[in-house]
Amino acid sequence: MNSSVTGCKRIHSIEVEQLQDSEEVQHSFLLIKGRLEPKCSAAKQLKATLELRDESLEQLTQLSSAGEFKLLFDLHKGERERQEEPAVTSRACLLQLRSCSGSRLIRFTYKPRSSPYRVQPLYIVCQDEKEEEQEQEQEKEKNARSDHSARCSLIDLNLRLVQCIYAHKLHAAGFANRTFTLNGPCRLFRSQLTTEETLAKTEDELWQHFAGEILSCAQWGQQLHLKFVAFVACTRYDGAAVAASGDLSYANIRRHLRGHAALGGGGLALFGSAHFYSWPRAFAEIGDCVRSAERVDVARLPDESNYRRTYGGVYASTLGAVCHELGHCFDLGHTLNGVMGQGFDYLNRRTHYVFVLTASGDTKRLACDDAEAEAEAEADSH
Ligand SMILES: [Zn+2]
Ligand SMILES: [Zn+2]
Repeated sequence: MNSSVTGCKRIHSIEVEQLQDSEEVQHSFLLIKGRLEPKCSAAKQLKATLELRDESLEQLTQLSSAGEFKLLFDLHKGERERQEEPAVTSRACLLQLRSCSGSRLIRFTYKPRSSPYRVQPLYIVCQDEKEEEQEQEQEKEKNARSDHSARCSLIDLNLRLVQCIYAHKLHAAGFANRTFTLNGPCRLFRSQLTTEETLAKTEDELWQHFAGEILSCAQWGQQLHLKFVAFVACTRYDGAAVAASGDLSYANIRRHLRGHAALGGGGLALFGSAHFYSWPRAFAEIGDCVRSAERVDVARLPDESNYRRTYGGVYASTLGAVCHELGHCFDLGHTLNGVMGQGFDYLNRRTHYVFVLTASGDTKRLACDDAEAEAEAEADSH
């Protein structure tokens, strides 16, 4: 990477989007997008070193043919390993980027966001699903984590990524350092429904039911500053029937998903768990999951990738759905671009729905666009 070795004589600079010197970062995943200028014929990689409290994290990333790069750092890494709560005090961080003759130093502070308006993740299990302790006993390996807690940590990891995506999109829209606050780690929520009852309900019925259960429960019901993002544990997919029918359309795949939802509005964004197969379980897997070109075997797993039919496509589409539906909980309407955009590929194929609160205090379901038309009509009438 030394210019005298590679033969490149150019004087490079490293441009970085968004992150400014002496900025305060409030979300725990730091996404950095940038570019080596001017284009270098020799350098293929960029080396990034992040000094974070008492440790130094190093990443080597590939440059695209245009000299662009992306990096993702976990600013909360040390605490997480020591299972500490995120510190409320700010701490100094130093990021150094190097490629060919280019070098860039950015000093910033990391201070976890603390807003009274928070999002609480829940993992909804049915009343007849196994207890965690029973499961642990059945496992051969004593230290193996139970399915439930593994799912909860998968949800936590990916919601931190959603938080980071929000920060970026809002920054790009001119709102620096805005995102939502996660109230805490994902919690198990035991529903009064049996698995059978859950699987028999439509997406709307699931939303109505779980919203009601969460609001009426002692632990969460009175916390008016909380919004919930919840995942149904027992989602089932009948891939054999899809394969046998020969109809691989999304409509048909959707018909063979039960206990599934992708619906947000009011205080709850509700999702199924059938697409978790494409989601990363650890920070180190994020890049591989995003780029994964592994083909989805529709006879076994539900595809949801805007016809890309890859694990990476399913991950992008379903995490995109979480961003989008959560946006409806924050009362965001549709825009041309970004997570609320019509161009966002989650929205390409179909009308989706939101729940709105009517004047009488009931909820009713509206197609997204109708909901906006109605809100506009409402606004116009005042
Ligand atoms: Zn160069
Ligand atoms: Zn929408």
